[in-house]
Amino acid sequence: MKHSLSPAMHNAAFRELGIDAEYLLYDVEPEKLEAFLGDMARANISGLNVTIPHKIRAREYLERKGSLDNNAKKLGAVNTIKIDGPALSGFNTDGPGFYRSLVEDLKFEPEGKSVFVLGAGGAAKAIVMYLGNGTKNISVFDIDKEKTGELKEHYKKYFDEKKLSILADDAQLKDALAASDLLVNATPIGMKETDPSPVDKEFLKAGMYVYDLVYNRPLTQLVKDANARKAHAVTGLGMLLYQGAISFEIWTGSKAPVAVMKKALKEALKSSGNG
Ligand code: NAP
Repeated sequence: MKHSLSPAMHNAAFRELGIDAEYLLYDVEPEKLEAFLGDMARANISGLNVTIPHKIRAREYLERKGSLDNNAKKLGAVNTIKIDGPALSGFNTDGPGFYRSLVEDLKFEPEGKSVFVLGAGGAAKAIVMYLGNGTKNISVFDIDKEKTGELKEHYKKYFDEKKLSILADDAQLKDALAASDLLVNATPIGMKETDPSPVDKEFLKAGMYVYDLVYNRPLTQLVKDANARKAHAVTGLGMLLYQGAISFEIWTGSKAPVAVMKKALKEALKSSGNG
């Protein structure tokens, strides 16, 4: 969290709109989260982001003491809290942020398409639960079978389970990739400069769409390979930007200055030694 890019993005947006506010970072121990949220409800602030490891605990708290939007309810996790007097409402902007970047940056409309998600952790879950039944189907592969099992159980509480396939091995992975319109990398592979692509180059085909959630590098090996195979590919900076822009709009009720926020994000990435 100490290296969060969010302060740069939000503070640039406040300055741009002349809003007298500041985005600050707080390190909170998990067992102190509820007391912290109680204090924040009494403070004169408009809202908060909460991140790992607090997203589920924050949802539980708001279920009892506040309200939740549909996304946060379905996903079971909160990343944005709006404070209105003493009232707290919880939202999750990860799925909507991904969707907006998918459409605006990658120019891909997922409705009726086949989607392949590599990884079944927190980010994958936000994406799968937001896409829901709106795609033709979603295939998920993760080396951690407990995570894929949990994702499937969660998904079927809300959606038609026939639309979600959990892949068991490399052979299934290869077949599903060949039949997919969009590949999403939701693993951390690519964050380090020396990381290989998480997907064999042979599996990428011309015209396919690739969304790599990794955002701390301008280009990952997966994106380079996709470009070489004439696929369309982006890294995850746009998701980070739009989840923040949607949070900003929830807190302020003003349209987020997306271009200014994007520039601030890129500069913050560069000065962190990446980008
Ligand atoms: P996470 O909860 O740790 O989930 C990642 C999952 O991928 C884990 O279950 C991991 O299994 C699995 N995995 C690792 N290598 C794999 C492989 N070769 N094949 C299949 N599965 C594999 O992480 P997360 O929070 O979901 O984040 C995932 C990535 O998304 C990170 O790079 C993060 O920075 C990025 N992200 C980006 C944004 C954005 O705004 N752009 C937002 C959220 C997250 P093991 O645990 O067994 O290794």
